Amino acid sequence: MSSLRSRYAPSPTGSLHLGNASTFIVNHLIASQMNWEMVFRLEDICGPRKKPEVTIETIELMKWLGLSWSGEVKVQSECLKRHLAYFEQLVDLDAAYHCDLSRKEIIEAQSAPAIGEHPSANIRPSDVKKHNAGATISAHNWRFVTINEPVTFHDEIRGQCTCEETPDFAIWTNDNTPSYQIAVVIDDVLDGVTDVVRGSDLIPSTAWQIQILQQLQLPLPRWWHLPLICGPDGRKLGKRHGDTTVRSYKELGVPVQAIYGLVAYWYDFVSERTLLTLDELQSVFNVETIPHGEIMCSSDDLTWLNDCSQ
Ligand code: GLU
Repeated sequence: MSSLRSRYAPSPTGSLHLGNASTFIVNHLIASQMNWEMVFRLEDICGPRKKPEVTIETIELMKWLGLSWSGEVKVQSECLKRHLAYFEQLVDLDAAYHCDLSRKEIIEAQSAPAIGEHPSANIRPSDVKKHNAGATISAHNWRFVTINEPVTFHDEIRGQCTCEETPDFAIWTNDNTPSYQIAVVIDDVLDGVTDVVRGSDLIPSTAWQIQILQQLQLPLPRWWHLPLICGPDGRKLGKRHGDTTVRSYKELGVPVQAIYGLVAYWYDFVSERTLLTLDELQSVFNVETIPHGEIMCSSDDLTWLNDCSQ
């Protein structure tokens, strides 16, 4: 068994669309080439939770896309107990403070820090230890104390990435639930994930997650941020661009080979759209040609997919 491991970590908040699907397919291609093990974790704690029908559909569609993983699907909401001890450590380290301001109040406060001040200077208590003394974790929302300087990290696709100083962010909520930022890093550490492959829209989260890992003195994974798939308006592919769900294409009779072909075309592995098997896609795959910028899903791409229906 490989000691290197990556993961599929979809949030079943809505039906899987071509953007997420292409990220998972490329994650699979890298993993196969590098001989990594894959695990599957359903991240069902963010956004509208407990949509069993989306959860079941996501697993079925991942299988239809030819993706495979070791072991059972891990469901994040069933493993929530494992995050608390790490969060308590952060509180002991004065790396988190309770803050029950509304989202709107936080945005307003953070929009006006004086020049040179930390972006969260207006909400962060001056003495975190004193502020937290005697507070019950489950009675509050909590924010992480970020550093007052840019965060730099190495990305396996993009090379050096720098994120400007980051505001304090939500780390624990008053329904005694971890935020995505802490849940994902602790789960990755405990699941033995060495290589995190995901969309480049999560680069700002990486800057936050590095800070959590460093505070807790936990190992950092390697990061591979893949290009975001955008609609013709330059915004992340989503509902606003019409129905680009994998389910719809499957129901229309579009073969999965057309999705592989489109991924190969988007990622510059081939110069024309063509049907490909998974083996053919693997053989044209080249990690070096993965674009750094965004990939545009054009209306011609969608027309071609539709035309492939059988
Ligand atoms: N569950 C997150 C999402 O679907 C991805 C988390 C990650 O890859 O770190 O956006």
